[in-house]
This record gives sequence, structure tokens and C-alpha cells, in this order.
Amino acid sequence: MSVHNGLAANVVPPNGFHFIQQLKNGKTHKIEGANSWAELEHQVLRFRLEQISLVDPERADPDHVAQDIRDYVCANFPTSCVDRSFQVVGSSTLGQSYAQDTGGDPSDNTFRKFIPLIQRIAEWLGNLGQEPKPFTTPAEADKRANTCTTCAYNVRWETTCGPCVQNVKMETVRILGTRKTRHDDNLRGCRRIGWYNRIAVWLDTDKMADQSLPDKCWHKA
Ligand code: SF4
Repeated sequence: MSVHNGLAANVVPPNGFHFIQQLKNGKTHKIEGANSWAELEHQVLRFRLEQISLVDPERADPDHVAQDIRDYVCANFPTSCVDRSFQVVGSSTLGQSYAQDTGGDPSDNTFRKFIPLIQRIAEWLGNLGQEPKPFTTPAEADKRANTCTTCAYNVRWETTCGPCVQNVKMETVRILGTRKTRHDDNLRGCRRIGWYNRIAVWLDTDKMADQSLPDKCWHKA
């Protein structure tokens, strides 16, 4: 029997490959139309990233998606459930495919290597919340931006997931409004911290006492 994520790959459950997504407002949203468990995982992850403010941002990653789908199927459609204890954390094929998509650094264990940068940025944006943020001065933002553009951790975050990219871009406009630095065209994601430098350089946040940050990092205490 072919098994995917502890589920029988060839046993289609009633109503097809689908998942009931719980929303923060207490409602649910049915995700359906997939032709396989792997496709359903991509659909659920995409939904969570696109609708990050409606769902638990902590579960908008490949491993939690795979785990939630398996738990849902095993609780409701036992004939499709092969192994309830199937372990996917840190090893899901979904996570690996997204890591390849984003050029993740496989030699770097401390940077949540199987979590694509776009997903970390989406989580970070979700944790920022909806309230207006205190901003630093344009001169300081410009100085920070200049530092990021010369840093090896300033890397591309966009993937082929159009809606996921659009979500980050829309949040950027919502948070920053018309704020710009002279270096915006070269500001990318920070692979070390997991945020979008274009937004981060403007935020009036506490510095990080983390010796593993590069010495020149403006965020290092
Ligand atoms: S490590 Fe610091 S300087 Fe480098 S990209 Fe990230 S925020 Fe910018």
C-alpha cells in the first residue's frame, strides 16, 4: 500500500481529499478539490499563508499542515488512516519542496532550514498584528537598509506561490504606507532572523542579544 504522511495514498475519503480548516472567529472553511494528499497539503498551506490573520500563524507551516490533515482524516475517516503516530516534523516532503523552492541553506541547522523564508516572513507578519507600529526615523531606516544590502543574509524570499507573495506585498503596503528607503530595490528577506527587511528597517524594535548575528547587523545588541 502506498502511504503518504500516515495516510493511504490510494484510498479517497468520502467527499474527496479535503480538509476542514478551523478559523479564529470560530467558523470553519472547507478546502477541497485536491487530487492527492500532497496536493491537499499545498492547498491548506497556501490558504493559511494567504489568510494568516484568520488562522493560527503558528500552524502555517508544512509540518503542522501535514499533522493537522492526518489528525483530521484519522479522526473522521479511519479507513484512510494507516498510522496515527506517523512523524513528519522536520522531514515532510512538503517542507523539503518548499525549501528547495526558496533556496534554503541545508548546511545551516539553526535557521529552521526546512521552513521556507516566505513562510517565516508570513508568520512574522502574523505576529506583528494589525495595530500601527512605532517607526524609526527615515535617516535611521536608510542607514539600516544600507547595512542589509551588504549582508549575506539578505536573500530572495519570493516563491512561485503567487498568492503567498501577494500576501506579503499587501501587508508591506498596509504597514509601511508610503515609507521608502533609498535601498528598497535591494532589500530582501533576512534569512537569519526570518523577517522582511523592507519592513523591518523601519520598525522601532529592541535590539537582539544574539552573538550569532553578524557584527555589522544593525539589530545586534
Ligand atoms: S542579519 Fe541583520 S544586517 Fe543582515 S540582513 Fe538580517 S537584519 Fe539585515
